[in-house]
Order: sequence, then C-alpha cells, then structure tokens
Amino acid sequence: MRPWNFSAGPSALPLEVLQQAAAELTDWHGCGMSVMEMSHRGVQFTQIRDEAVADLRSLLSIPDEFEVLFMQGGATAENAIVPLNLIGRRSAGKADYVLTGIWSNKSYAEAQRYGDIAVAATSGQEKVIDGVAQAPWTWYPDAGEWKPRRDAAYLHICGNETIGGLECAAWPSMASLGAPDVPLVVDVSSHFLSRPIDFSKVGMVYAGAQKNAGPAGVTVVIVRKDLIGHALPACPSAFNYSNVAAAGSMFNTPPTFAIYIAGLVFKWLRRQGGIEAIEQANIAKAKALYSFLDQSGFYVSRVQRSARSRMNVPFFLRDESLNARFLEEAQAAGLLQLRGHKSVGGMRASIYNAVPMEAVQALINYLQDFERRHG
Ligand code: PMP
Repeated sequence: MRPWNFSAGPSALPLEVLQQAAAELTDWHGCGMSVMEMSHRGVQFTQIRDEAVADLRSLLSIPDEFEVLFMQGGATAENAIVPLNLIGRRSAGKADYVLTGIWSNKSYAEAQRYGDIAVAATSGQEKVIDGVAQAPWTWYPDAGEWKPRRDAAYLHICGNETIGGLECAAWPSMASLGAPDVPLVVDVSSHFLSRPIDFSKVGMVYAGAQKNAGPAGVTVVIVRKDLIGHALPACPSAFNYSNVAAAGSMFNTPPTFAIYIAGLVFKWLRRQGGIEAIEQANIAKAKALYSFLDQSGFYVSRVQRSARSRMNVPFFLRDESLNARFLEEAQAAGLLQLRGHKSVGGMRASIYNAVPMEAVQALINYLQDFERRHG
C-alpha cells in the first residue's frame, strides 16, 4: 500500500489517475505516441483539451458566459496577469484586495505595479471573536465589513489561504456590498473543485492545478466573457485573456501533459459523483479531524472556527519540543508531508479531494497513539 500523502501542493493525486496515466504513458489510445510526444494541434490532443474543458464545465456547471482558459505561470503569474487584463476595464485604474494571509498579500503586492491598489479589508491584526483573541491572519474578515471602492475594476480575495488554513465560507454578492459593478476575483488555488462555485457571485476564479486539479504546470482560469478585452498595452501577448480565449488555450504550446492529467482528474471526479458528492466527503473529513483536535489537550488548532479550511488543517503540538519526533514517527507510520509551512511552524495536514477518509482516519489514529505515548 502507498503511504498517505498530506502535502499542501503539489499534492496527492487519485491513484486511479496515476495508474491510468501509467498504462497510457507510451501509447495513448493506440495512436503510437505518448501525450507528451503529440502535436498540440493534432486531433488527439485537441480531443484531450476539448474533453477536459467539457468535463470541467459539467462538473462546476460553468455558465456559457464564462470562458475556461488553461494558462501557465501558476497562481503567482496570475497575480500580475489579473491586473494586466482587468484593471483597464474602468478608467480609474483601481483594484481592491482583501488581505487574509500570505497568498492574498502576495497578490496585493504584485498588483501594486499596475494601478491604484487598496485594501478592502484585512485580518492582519488581532481580533477578539466569540471571546477568543485571534492572532493576525487566523481569522477571515466578515464579508459585510469589506469596503470595496465603487469604481474599482475588481475586488480580489483568496478563497482559501493554504498556509494559514483559512477558508472564506461564503462569497458575498457584490451588490450586497454596494459595489454591483465591481466583479469579485477569487484565487481558488487550494480549494478548487472541493465545493461548488456560485458563478452568479464572481467575475473570475483562477487556480494553479497542483492541489485538487492535477500536476503543476497548468493554471485554470474561468473568467466572465465581458471582462475580457480590456488588457493594458503592456500585457504580454501570451498572458492576454483575449488571445488565449481566441486560440482555445493554444496561443502558445500549452502544458499538454498537465492538461491531460487534469482531464483524467476531472473524469475521476465525475465518477465519484461530482462536486456535490466530493464536497460532502470533504465536510466529513474536515469534521473528523477538527473534532479530534478540539477534544485533545495535546494538539491545538488556532484558526477561528468559522473560517477553518476544509482543505488545509494547520495544528500545533502544545509541547513543540516533540515536533521532530512527531514528524519522524509519522513518516515511519506511512503519513507523509505533515510539516507546517515554515512561516507558521507546527504541522499541517492537507486533506484534498484525493486524500480519502481512510487517510484522515489513519492520521487521527496516529495522533491518538502519539498523544498516548508522549502526553
Ligand atoms: N495562491 C494560493 C492560495 C496557493 O496555495 C499558491 C501555492 N501554494 C499560490 C497562490 C501560488 O501558486 P503557484 O506556486 O502555482 O504560483
């Protein structure tokens, strides 16, 4: 049996997908070539791309007025590509950001190069919530308190802060924030495909694939068509959504193998019962792990309860001198990549779609056992 992999990204892929890719590696569907060796403009790859787009549209019920683009450069490149494409859609050249942790702060910092960028809300200070003093970046500002400017070109949020383990539980409608003409742009990198997306509330979402969607190398962008066509003159051609859309994500050679694997993941998700079924599984997994942590005096979760991520669960041993030992023994028990991000410390279990309840149960058993031996 393979060990369970709790990496934050690149992360575990469904075993069935890896096995299918292995079986097809040298000869895709009898064509005598691997996917890596075929022209991206040939009939075989065109079919792979078309099926990936169709399966993704079906999984997320993406409305026709949205374009699905496969790009490169990861979510980090989108931090520049988003303002380059969207900030010019309103003459004021403004964009607003909600800051909730490392990833949204990086997006905000990069956007500064392209216009008048402001903070619409931030959790960068301590706040007492339900009688608990929450440290900076361990809570998510209530949507009702976000203050977008009415003439901003867009409002950006990070839907799931992978490092802090914070998730925005529900996206507001921009009309309810008094800014109906400001589209919401969401970095969904680390919770993409873990839950449905309400496209009536967003102008655009983007995700690096390497958590729930596939291997690193492809970025998925789902953008409302009316937001395309306003790129700044300085926008590189290959990053201009108009060009990428017009070319069916083949303005330049796309990351063909990564798109192929993502396509297999989309088919796997459909076989699991689709997004609603996977969401229920994710709710059950997160509930099991957080419930265990909450009743334990040995481990602690520091994220505000209503903002806890279903995907990334940071936790700490109260006695941090046991950290190295905890990780060593976890590895020996077949539980990989539990070390927390260096900026936060402690531990982090990422429990993405491809990490089943069985893995979460194995982790809980190990946590119990370690506590029994060291508590
Ligand atoms: N945003 C979020 C929420 C992420 O988790 C990550 C990567 N962990 C990034 C952005 C950056 O993605 P990439 O490394 O693909 O550029």
